[in-house]
Amino acid sequence: MTSSSQPTAVVTGASSGIGEATARKLAADGFHVFVGARRVDRLEKLAEEIGGTALQLDVTDEDSVAAFTSVLPTIDVLVNNAGGAKGLATVLDADLEDWRWMWETNVMGTLRMTKALLPKLIESGDGIVVTITSIAAFETYDNGGGYTSAKHAQGVLHRTLRGELLGKPVRLTEIAPGAVETEFSLVRFEGDEDKAAKVYDGIEPLVAADIAEVIGFVASRPSHVNLDTIVIRPRDQAPGSGARFARR
Ligand code: NAP
Repeated sequence: MTSSSQPTAVVTGASSGIGEATARKLAADGFHVFVGARRVDRLEKLAEEIGGTALQLDVTDEDSVAAFTSVLPTIDVLVNNAGGAKGLATVLDADLEDWRWMWETNVMGTLRMTKALLPKLIESGDGIVVTITSIAAFETYDNGGGYTSAKHAQGVLHRTLRGELLGKPVRLTEIAPGAVETEFSLVRFEGDEDKAAKVYDGIEPLVAADIAEVIGFVASRPSHVNLDTIVIRPRDQAPGSGARFARR
């Protein structure tokens, strides 16, 4: 599966978007990458292209996480990327199932994967956990409470580890992107392509490779350097509550 000297990485949610681009980047940088997601057909194609290993993974399912992690060797880099949003609704009109999906995937999924892989990361002698949160982990916006609350919780989970693991050979990096054009909006709007396209209308959003490039940089710093938090936005998006875009 891997040669003993080759560094290893796990990327969750590698069947599209940021995860797929990250798996490509880390493989190009010399990692053997274990790619996980629910859509195995996509993963297998990717793994063949990058010389990695495809393994089915549902981060919301305890047994699936156990099966995925039990076959892994020592791991140098874990990228907690699987996640996303469902719907846009006020708290008053909140769909509890959408909220549950967001919390299970973004928060509990990150918890399950991190908990299961920390021993293997520590064993590596220089492990790195990269968690893809969002600017939604720092800001709120109207109709976005399900996603922003989940991303805040995911961020807090990740940041808590920085203190708890002090003295252990594990670095922790939170990456908080603004608008990246991936399948994210398609998932949020349940496959409605017009609605999804409108999100990026008149702006130049980030692309998945922009984020992957930074993850490659994070994973290639010397052991004593911990990049704690990196916020990445398109030039056309300003910080602040709500989607502050410069649309042309
Ligand atoms: P994407 O293209 O929709 O990718 C999401 C990935 O997550 C897919 O590979 C999907 O694979 C996987 N996934 C979803 N549920 C899963 C589950 N239960 N178990 C395992 N994998 C699961 O969206 P993306 O933009 O690349 O999103 C990646 C991460 O970046 C997410 O955490 C998202 O919240 C975050 N983010 C995105 C943006 C943005 O604007 N795009 C901004 C900030 C943060 P399967 O469906 O095959 O399982």
